[in-house]
Amino acid sequence: MAKKQDKCSFCGRSSSEVRLLISGIDGFICEDCAAQAYQIVQENFNKTPEKSSTGFDWKHLPKPTEIKAYLDQYVIGQDDAKRYLSVAVYNHYKRISQVVTDDGVEIEKSNVIMVGPTGTGKTLMARTIANLLKVPFTIVDATVFTEAGYVGEDVESILSRLLQVADFDVQATQRGIVFIDEIDKIARKTDNPSITRDVSGEGVQQGLLKLLEGSIVNVPPKGGRKHPDQDYEHIDTHNILFICGGAFDGIERKIAQRLNTHVVGYNSIQNVAHIDRSNLMKYIQPQDLKSFGLIPEIIGRLPVLTYLDALDRKALRAILTEPKNSLIRQQQKLFGMDGIALAFDEEALEYIVDKAVEFKLGARGLRSIVESIMITPQYELPASGTKTFRVTLDYAKQQVEKASFAA
Ligand code: ADP
Repeated sequence: MAKKQDKCSFCGRSSSEVRLLISGIDGFICEDCAAQAYQIVQENFNKTPEKSSTGFDWKHLPKPTEIKAYLDQYVIGQDDAKRYLSVAVYNHYKRISQVVTDDGVEIEKSNVIMVGPTGTGKTLMARTIANLLKVPFTIVDATVFTEAGYVGEDVESILSRLLQVADFDVQATQRGIVFIDEIDKIARKTDNPSITRDVSGEGVQQGLLKLLEGSIVNVPPKGGRKHPDQDYEHIDTHNILFICGGAFDGIERKIAQRLNTHVVGYNSIQNVAHIDRSNLMKYIQPQDLKSFGLIPEIIGRLPVLTYLDALDRKALRAILTEPKNSLIRQQQKLFGMDGIALAFDEEALEYIVDKAVEFKLGARGLRSIVESIMITPQYELPASGTKTFRVTLDYAKQQVEKASFAA
């Protein structure tokens, strides 16, 4: 408690002249000086270059190797794609956080395009990154978009969804991640010229362009045309990271064609020898996307191009048990909640992989096979008092054969 003769060590006023005098070890501070001191502290913090106007603090952003290590916990294989994506994401958020300086260097946006067969982890990877960074994330399918005026969704609806995921927080929306799936399906059909307008192709690509390159878009928060009287939000897409994915079926042929034309002539023998014909995808270049029918402007806005490998048996087997939230771990958790310890014999796991390969469903198939095996125990065991359950090869076979999709 301050006594009558005590004075504020900053302004010199005595305890009778102020409302509050806080005592320290060697002096006092009055409420006005404390408030002023707080303000000075705040101003100084805002001056430090770590924080940008977008409120994103890149000093706390995981480094590319850390992003990849995080992806490794959830996604099997796909090393090249993980590396590309980690760097692109890191650079993107560095760019968002850059403090405006007068050196004239502005880091450009690094939207990503991932090419690879369906069910190989493209969406999973984008979603995992968004989880790590704790930014709003949404997935859209490029095939639902049509040119303005046609039945279907406008490209702006992408942003409505992101806004909804971000709980209508515009700032958070503006640094979110959008995954656009099946981008290959809006490729221009070059081989099939049509006199009518190309509803699904080039027009939609043009629409996407303005989102990708960064512009201010009027977004109906509730989306769609069903709520015509809502107020629009203005969303700036400059800092939204777009990750596009597509299977680009048959693009290997375009790659092969390009490689073949290149290898004719100078240095050709050497080049041919170095080409790994079993995995042409790793040679993918932007011009292959162009041959496939993406317009050059779109390709230019997706500067980071990477590919995903098809999943082989070994990868499928690993996907069953290795990821942090693998299918088997999820099942074990479900049963664990009923006090039942669940185990799978290795032969049963191999059988699940065999079936997934046979059904040609890739990693997506694993889940439906596991579900079909587990439906009966999930139904019967919780009320049975059983404490352990082992899925053997015979049991797995029997359940899959029983399920209708095995027919
Ligand atoms: P797409 O490449 O078509 O976007 P997804 O990422 O949606 O494929 O994959 C479908 C499902 O398959 C995922 O939810 C995941 O369970 C599984 N999966 C696919 N690829 C992998 C992978 N490389 N590692 C782990 N799981 C995977």
